[in-house]
Amino acid sequence: MANYAGVIVDISLEKLDRVFDYKIPAHLEEVVHPGVPVWIPFGMGNRRIKGFVVSLSDTCDYEECRVKEIIGICEGVIPVEGHLIELAAWMREKYGCTMNQAMKTVIPVKNKVKEQTKVLISLNTDKKIVENYINDNKRCKARIRVLQILTLKGTLEKEKLLEKAATTAATLKELQEAGLIILQSETIYRLPKIAREEKKNITLNKEQQTILDTFQSAYTQGICENYLIHGVTGSGKTEVYMGMLETVLKAGKQAIVLIPEIALTFQTVMRFYGRFGERVSVMHSKMSAGERYDQMERAKKGEISVMIGPRSAVFTPFSNLGMIIIDEEHEGSYKSETTPKYHAREVAKKRCEMSGASLVLGSATPSIETYFKASCGELKLLKLPNRIGDSRLAAVQVVDLRKELKEGNRSVISRTLRTQMQNALDKNQQIMLFLNRRGHTGFISCRSCGHVLKCPHCDVSLTLHRDNKMRCHYCGYEQPNVKNCPECGSPYIGGFRAGTQAIEEVVKKEFPQARILRMDMDTTRKKGSYEAILESFAKKEADILIGTQMIVKGHDFPDVTLVGVLLADLSLHTSDYMAAERTFQLLTQAVGRAGRGKVPGNAVIQTYQPEHYAVQSAASQNYESFYELEIAYRDLMSYPPMSGMLAMLLQAEDEALLETEAEKIKTSILEMEIPLLRVTGPTPAVISKLSDIYRRVIYLKHEDTKELYKVREMIDEAVKCEKIRKEIRVEFDENPLYAY
Ligand code: ADP
Ligand code: ZN
Ligand code: ZN
Repeated sequence: MANYAGVIVDISLEKLDRVFDYKIPAHLEEVVHPGVPVWIPFGMGNRRIKGFVVSLSDTCDYEECRVKEIIGICEGVIPVEGHLIELAAWMREKYGCTMNQAMKTVIPVKNKVKEQTKVLISLNTDKKIVENYINDNKRCKARIRVLQILTLKGTLEKEKLLEKAATTAATLKELQEAGLIILQSETIYRLPKIAREEKKNITLNKEQQTILDTFQSAYTQGICENYLIHGVTGSGKTEVYMGMLETVLKAGKQAIVLIPEIALTFQTVMRFYGRFGERVSVMHSKMSAGERYDQMERAKKGEISVMIGPRSAVFTPFSNLGMIIIDEEHEGSYKSETTPKYHAREVAKKRCEMSGASLVLGSATPSIETYFKASCGELKLLKLPNRIGDSRLAAVQVVDLRKELKEGNRSVISRTLRTQMQNALDKNQQIMLFLNRRGHTGFISCRSCGHVLKCPHCDVSLTLHRDNKMRCHYCGYEQPNVKNCPECGSPYIGGFRAGTQAIEEVVKKEFPQARILRMDMDTTRKKGSYEAILESFAKKEADILIGTQMIVKGHDFPDVTLVGVLLADLSLHTSDYMAAERTFQLLTQAVGRAGRGKVPGNAVIQTYQPEHYAVQSAASQNYESFYELEIAYRDLMSYPPMSGMLAMLLQAEDEALLETEAEKIKTSILEMEIPLLRVTGPTPAVISKLSDIYRRVIYLKHEDTKELYKVREMIDEAVKCEKIRKEIRVEFDENPLYAY
């Protein structure tokens, strides 16, 4: 039995971010384990506060008499499995956050949400006693009604019984006290409602079976490996995942399947349900806290064996984890945008290591980072280069928009795309039009002087809305539209209309007979509308689906034979090193939507830069050629994965102070004299001012990430001892996905 417990204090204060030793009183020896929430006396006044046990030991570094005792166990808080605490400790090191922040991340639902229960009522004694009671209490009509109903029906739910007997709970209480009925409560879990798809009888093809065999033979020998399945769209990856899941479940283990949030509520989940039924559960952000809590409880009790969910599902408290699958592993949504800025891929890898589980990553367009690791042998690369059945990859045409304009076509739809659309419509086939916009389109600019109207608080372009008002998407600032340029007075000021709504209007005009659906932030705001649009399109209630990134993720529409990418450049010119990678992924996925059924597909990519390698390799659907060029670029420029990169975001209300402090910080970093460390900035961030807070960013690069962590530690220290002014807020982000 351990005598001492290491406890972290549940207060979000930097200064308390360490482990404190407490004595375990004899009566708590059995129940104090890592992960258990406890009450402890704290500080001079021995204030009673909450903490989490993170470790146990027989000895203690302090004098016996100075170590305080744990008061008791906190009820009403979910105890965390010991290994999740270990995981939190690792996250603290890796992402440079506090233990408390890490703990809050690994325990997604912290406080117990009241369970929903139903009360079942049944008769307690044999019929004779009941009959006697009825005879003796003839005037108590309500009680008699209750007893008669129960005699007839056996057990009934409380609400139903009250309704049938037209009485109140008081009657039941009297009967209960008289010992005639028993009340039993039963927990009802709030189960997410998801339709179940019929189980298909699928025999894996040779390529799929080879991958599954590789996995199975290792798994059954107890070898846990990390895998990357690089399979083109529609190559049957999901079927392979399910085969792997079966292996893991047969071994009595549990598994987590991460899927991008956006692909969660539709086809994929139904397939898992169809195959594994009630052993599968789902988590997603639209669920209530109660629903999520219930899922966690069921996971912990072992009532489910597979949890499907987005990023945060990686923390599902399974005690016997055998595998984590990350589908579409290249997706940006796997990285957290709030501190700790963890990447689910990295956390999953760590968790698998800790539990002796296998990690399976899958994608048609693996992230450069993952593919690089696979090429170094850190992951076992498994390939599915062909689509299922006879369905072939689409024939892709790249259209040069510069030429289009020169030849007098000012429409957002090129002549090639228009012809192909007409062809598809004539044949009663479906079309998807994709606008890969990121950030802010619909902005107002002056054609004479180039001035762009921006939000005075946030330094981002204002967006023109239908009510003729311009709004800031960050802070909500609005102003009426202008007729003349505020800089030069020119009347040639207007919007660059590249929103999905604008596209819809053009398409309506050019193809008045076509039935059109649009999917973007505006049309999917309401709960369930996303699914409704996809379902409607799947049922062929529309000919054309127009949308943003949302429409290209993982949906199978066999009747779509044509995909049009309206302006590939929109994602190509975001100001960060991952722009090409992201564009390649988006284009490949968009193109992959076409021709998933029996009819071969076509795709048209419109762009002002047809010669760009991201466009070229996406058009030829050649991942390897893209990878070779991209990794060469990363190597040349020392970008991840060839070098570690750390963004340091500095924020303050006072711009002048921010500027001088940022320079000082840079100097202090340079004074560390770390060989080969590269420091750029400080520069104003892409969004240089947000809600009246100024933002500067410093980027650090080094081949060895450990050297970058040294800098982070130095800065953390400087923050703690206020060497850096406390008006300055410092945030770190390793390998940031976007420019700050
Ligand atoms: P991916 O996940 O790679 O996009 P899926 O697993 O979704 O591919 O497979 C694409 C389609 O092919 C699905 O409709 C799936 O049911 C079907 N499919 C997959 N494997 C087979 C197979 N071996 N035989 C027949 N159909 C298959
Ligand atoms: Zn102007
Ligand atoms: Zn603003």
